[in-house]
Formats: sequence, C-alpha cells, structure tokens
Amino acid sequence: MRRLLIAGNWKMNKTVPEAIELVRGLKERLKCVEDRDVLICPPFTALYPVSKELEGSQILLGGQNMFYEEKGAFTGEISPLMLKDVGCSFVILGHSERRHIFGEDDKLINKKVISAVKHGLIPILCVGERIEEREEGRTEEVIEKQVREGLKGLSSKDEFVIAYEPVWAIGTGKTATPEMAQEVHSFIREILKELFGEEKAGRVRVLYGGSVKPENAKGLLEMPDIDGALVGGASLKAESFSAIVQFD
Ligand code: PEP
Repeated sequence: MRRLLIAGNWKMNKTVPEAIELVRGLKERLKCVEDRDVLICPPFTALYPVSKELEGSQILLGGQNMFYEEKGAFTGEISPLMLKDVGCSFVILGHSERRHIFGEDDKLINKKVISAVKHGLIPILCVGERIEEREEGRTEEVIEKQVREGLKGLSSKDEFVIAYEPVWAIGTGKTATPEMAQEVHSFIREILKELFGEEKAGRVRVLYGGSVKPENAKGLLEMPDIDGALVGGASLKAESFSAIVQFD
C-alpha cells in the first residue's frame, strides 16, 4: 500500500571525504531494498559529490532545509533550484532544530513547503511536541496546528511526507514506544483525511523520528500507520543505518 521510506538526516556532520566513505559503506551493505525507498540527507557541502557517488544506485538524495525563493540576496541560504540541480528529490522542512534553535515558525515553514512542491521536490514536513507540551496533555493540539499550518495551500494532487518527531526523543536516546507513536500517527492521518480526503490520506507516508536504532526499528516500523523512519544519529554509520533499512 504505502512504500516504506527510511531517511537519514546527517545534520551538520561529515566532510566530503567522510560523506563519500559513508555512501560507499551503504552501497556495499544495502542489498534487496527494492521494496522500500532509502534516502540520505547530507549537509549542503557534500550534496554534489555524494550525488556523483550515488550514480546508478537506488539511494535517493535530499536536502536538510532550503529557503523558499529561487535566487537573490539571501546570504547563506540555499534554493529549491540549487537542491534540484545537485540531484535532490526530497527536502526536510520544519525540523525541530530549525524550529527551536533557528526560530522557524509554521508560516515560514509553510512557504518552504509550497515552494518545494512547486519546484518538484518532495517536502518532508517535520512535526512534534516538546516534553512540557506532552506533559500538559497538549500533544494533539500542537501536532494539529503544525500539520494544518505546514500544509496550508497544498492539494490532494501534491506529494509530501510527514515526519512525526517528538522533540523529547530526538538525539536523547529516549524513543516513543511503538504504541505511543502509532497513536499520534493515526491522529495525523485523521487530520490528513479531513484536509485531503480518505484516498489521499491513505497514500501519504508518515515517518517516525526520534532515537530510531537497529534495536527498536522493527517494533516501530511494523505499526500500521508508521510508514518509515527519519533517522539522525544512527544514520551516520553505514552499519547502523543499513540495519535499520533492512530491519526485517
Ligand atoms: C532527527 O534529527 O531527525 C532525529 C530523529 O535524530 P535522532 O535519530 O538522533 O534522534
């Protein structure tokens, strides 16, 4: 029904030689993955050399962020055209580190989502509650706002992915249990039904992210509404990332 998508978010890690070494390790280890999509999101500086190294491989390439304009006086930013130019087909948007360290809000993230789709990139919209919001019983309220505002202006014809990443589980070693994650994923799918109809909601991939490791991947990925993973720390080593991708 929904094809699994396992994505690696390398964050601000890997020089070019380190990136090439990691990609070579992945190419060696990833066998029999025709039934799922594998995506890596290196830092901007490594995208072009990695895209050359990926020629002939089925591993997909994505950016970790982008600005919504095509070009111009936006010092330090990267445009959708630039990501496409180096072979990206996906872009992660609204990651909690962008929201909480760099102050990105739903309005800005939505502009980026719209621009990504317009330029033929598949946005992976990240949403997730902070620990205090979960403890106050506000998880659904927070997720609903981020999903509705992040996807504003899209139609059922547009391709996008959602990543549910509880902020308290990112890089902390604390993972949501498969049941906790499933509950939020199914809530997200209900919102998608309201926004885009049942048929489209059934086709949108909703990934889980937050301390996914080879040891917990199977339990999470076997849940009915978890359609893949967005992996941070464990995507930095070929051994652990390929073990997650080939969890079954
Ligand atoms: C992430 O940054 O998207 C992430 C889920 O990180 P980690 O796997 O390290 O928790």
